[in-house]
Amino acid sequence: MANVVDTKLYDILGVSPSASENELKKAYRKLAKEYHPDKNPDAGDKVRDRWLYTHFKEISFAYEVLTNPEKKELYDRYGEQGLREGGGGGAGMDDIFSHIFGGGLFGFMGGQGRGGGGRNGGRRRGEDMVHPLKVSLEDLYNGKTTKLQLSKNVLCASCNGAGGKAGAVQKCVACRGRGMRIMIRQLAPGMVQQMQSVCTDCNGEGEVISEKDRCKKCEGRKVNKETKLLEVHVDKGMKHGQKISFTGEADQAPGTEPGDILLVLQEKEHEGFRRDGHDLHMTQRIGLVEALCGFQLAVTHLDGRQLAVKYPPGKVIEPGCIRVVKGEGMPQYRNPFEKGDLFIKFDVQFPENNWISPEKLSELEDLLPGRAEVPVISSEAEEVDLQDCEVRGQGSAGARREAYNDSSDEEGGPHGPGVQCAHQ
Ligand SMILES: [Zn+2]
Ligand SMILES: [Zn+2]
Repeated sequence: MANVVDTKLYDILGVSPSASENELKKAYRKLAKEYHPDKNPDAGDKVRDRWLYTHFKEISFAYEVLTNPEKKELYDRYGEQGLREGGGGGAGMDDIFSHIFGGGLFGFMGGQGRGGGGRNGGRRRGEDMVHPLKVSLEDLYNGKTTKLQLSKNVLCASCNGAGGKAGAVQKCVACRGRGMRIMIRQLAPGMVQQMQSVCTDCNGEGEVISEKDRCKKCEGRKVNKETKLLEVHVDKGMKHGQKISFTGEADQAPGTEPGDILLVLQEKEHEGFRRDGHDLHMTQRIGLVEALCGFQLAVTHLDGRQLAVKYPPGKVIEPGCIRVVKGEGMPQYRNPFEKGDLFIKFDVQFPENNWISPEKLSELEDLLPGRAEVPVISSEAEEVDLQDCEVRGQGSAGARREAYNDSSDEEGGPHGPGVQCAHQ
């Protein structure tokens, strides 16, 4: 026993690493008598009770490991890490590990030892496969069935996922079936560095199958790549980020319950409509004449229908105002006959400078509502120039709409710090 990496468990029992099984038993019995909480006369002292209880657990743990040949070997060779990896833990074992060995490697097994069972109990569940699925707003409005082709691992039908004939599968000798190897490097006396790497003999499988016994179909890999065609139903009213799941359709692996395939909907931006929950929003450009004299519009909806939007003469549309078409928004998911509303924001285009002759202009003035009262301007008032100016970044129609968005309830053009005058 020259190569024992860690002697803590032996220390707890007060024996040397070369102790025989008999010596271990003797040491354990002696300590159990001494530290067993029930057999201790000092009952009543809570702090001491707790200490006794913990210490007794440590003693039991050390005894359990050192009298189990497999665990003892793991521990002797690889110390704590070997035990953790070899599934030495059970329910609550993390506590005892951190008690005995400190918190250094806490969480090494990702908490698998907790909650009973650990890696030996029950079937492990494979990972879910998550794919984004781009959909248009039309798809979400109308619903859509689409086929998605993907490649996944399927258990080999020829060998039932065994990789070879019965009895051909051998535990990997190099890693003793754990799939991982721990390299121990002594840096200085009493100071070792542990490194873990995937076993190269078995590629981390923990099992090897000699070449001649390997399944011909999967060549011992136990799984084959297969192309799977999934029929994806995008239902009316589904939302960006909503998941469509295919239970158990992810990669198959021996002894593992396959995870799910999850498709996450990604709504593509739409040119005409913007969605907000069940509602749709759009911007409509109209002229001054429509704004003042009524109009009829044709709006092509997401299902191709044409909506005739009418606004009677006499009703006025102010620039940037919003009107609603009830019931023409998005269908509700699982209740597609119920729909949200369609909100239309109006971008009123005013005529260009000098669009009308001065004579006609005075005729127009007669038709328009009268001017507000003429303000009283004192003789000392300074006369200033009102010049044309550009709003920063007002290059595109989109930005222009944005400007209206910001001042939707106000009359007149945008103003404030975003305005910069062009000096000519
Ligand atoms: Zn191996
Ligand atoms: Zn096979």
